[in-house]
Amino acid sequence: MVTSAPAGVAAPAPERGAAVGAEAGPVARAFARSAAEYGVPRDLLVAVAYGESRLNSHDGEPSQANGYGVMHLVSNPDHRTLEQAAGLTGLSRERLREDTAANIRGAAAVLRALADERGLGAADRRDAGAWYETVAAYGGAKDDRAARLYADAVYDFLGQGLTARTETGETVTVAPRAVEPDRGKLERSTTGEFGIQSTDYAPALWVPADASNYTVGRSSAITHVVVHVTQGSYAGSISWFQNPSSDVSAHYTIRSSDGQVTQSVREKDTAWHARSGNPYSVGIEHEGYVSEPKWFTDAMYRSSAALTRHLADRYAIPKDRTHIVGHVEVPGNDHTDPGPYWDWTYYMQLVGGTTTGGQVQLSFPAYTSISAGSTGDLVRAAQHLLNQQGHNAGTVDGIFGSGTTSAVKSFQTAKGLTSDGVVGARTWTALLSAGTKPVLQQGSSGADVQRLQRALTAALGRTVSADGSFGSGTATAVRDYQTSRGLTVDGIVGSGTWGALQAGR
Ligand SMILES: [Zn+2]
Repeated sequence: MVTSAPAGVAAPAPERGAAVGAEAGPVARAFARSAAEYGVPRDLLVAVAYGESRLNSHDGEPSQANGYGVMHLVSNPDHRTLEQAAGLTGLSRERLREDTAANIRGAAAVLRALADERGLGAADRRDAGAWYETVAAYGGAKDDRAARLYADAVYDFLGQGLTARTETGETVTVAPRAVEPDRGKLERSTTGEFGIQSTDYAPALWVPADASNYTVGRSSAITHVVVHVTQGSYAGSISWFQNPSSDVSAHYTIRSSDGQVTQSVREKDTAWHARSGNPYSVGIEHEGYVSEPKWFTDAMYRSSAALTRHLADRYAIPKDRTHIVGHVEVPGNDHTDPGPYWDWTYYMQLVGGTTTGGQVQLSFPAYTSISAGSTGDLVRAAQHLLNQQGHNAGTVDGIFGSGTTSAVKSFQTAKGLTSDGVVGARTWTALLSAGTKPVLQQGSSGADVQRLQRALTAALGRTVSADGSFGSGTATAVRDYQTSRGLTVDGIVGSGTWGALQAGR
């Protein structure tokens, strides 16, 4: 799921000019074709996609609200644009979820049907500004404030213009334009005034979650801040908290493009965002997807850090990584957010706190190769593990310098691995599994199980949730590892399996 540099993109002939060549790709063609087929303004269709997904398909994985693809076609109890698109186009739901061109065509069909319901004639349909309420309906918000957040964002992108890069390296652009959205009945709210500010945190808007998605009051003092990534759009997540079927909420959500903050649950109340961590924490959601670094903008980091600093000062929360944590670090949770692209060092600098003295994050959805010049949380994890095992990597600062290279080489030599100073899959496996060799099997739990799960993630090259609980998923991963390494395949981790892992096999 890593967004990689586009390899092998057909280069346009130089004299054609970049814009022409870049717009000739399959995604750009799908927007043009679907817009023409259903009479939806092409730029509007792209702006909706940009707001929903930045034109990423997330490899067919659903968002938090169970939406799919670049257009976020949704299938949940309260919003069924995926099913609607299937009915309108005759395309299968599977195809609509997984094929980007089909996904765009399905969304264009839904937008047209919603426009017809609102009585937009042919002339109206050519005017992007006339689609405002249709766009808001497409977003599926429960109340007018959330609907406005959704549609206003689309019209902001339309007005400012945009350049989006797809996972396949294609560029899709919308030129800036003057557009006047006709907000219709959304110009004035029926469910509360627009622009109401939070009473807890002045810079934030207030768009409350449904009362069935959080607990009034708290059973514990506030001692922690939990950092999340939404796996969905900003307005979509705020809407999701308003949906009684979601059973989730967070106190605050931060927008990627400009750092706008919306509060959904009062700080005195218990939002449902981190299971066992709920009673003692404030949850902050960040618009984006864990595997897509493009969402983590400077504006979002700064805005979120200002909020966390404010919370830390108000509740006397130490500004360190023991108290300001990721969802992945809260015990008893199986989520991986904020993921490997979240820059904790930068964030903690902005908070005005320290990145040392706290816990080092060891659980990641993937352990990519790191070497001299690498920086970030994976480097910090490797440095911590090397130090723990007696190979001196120096200060755990997240910067892979010559001291870290020496420590890696020393560790590799000790384990009989190629001593190249690069932490690749085999070195990660050995580093993450190092330690005692207790017998583990289905039903086991605790820190040793977590250590096993991290090592399996590195060894197999796929995410084995590091939740510390040995369930069927872990058992499958153990068997897969044993099979691929020619070990006895029993799903039980004894000295043979530990030995293989610790040797980096
Ligand atoms: Zn989370």
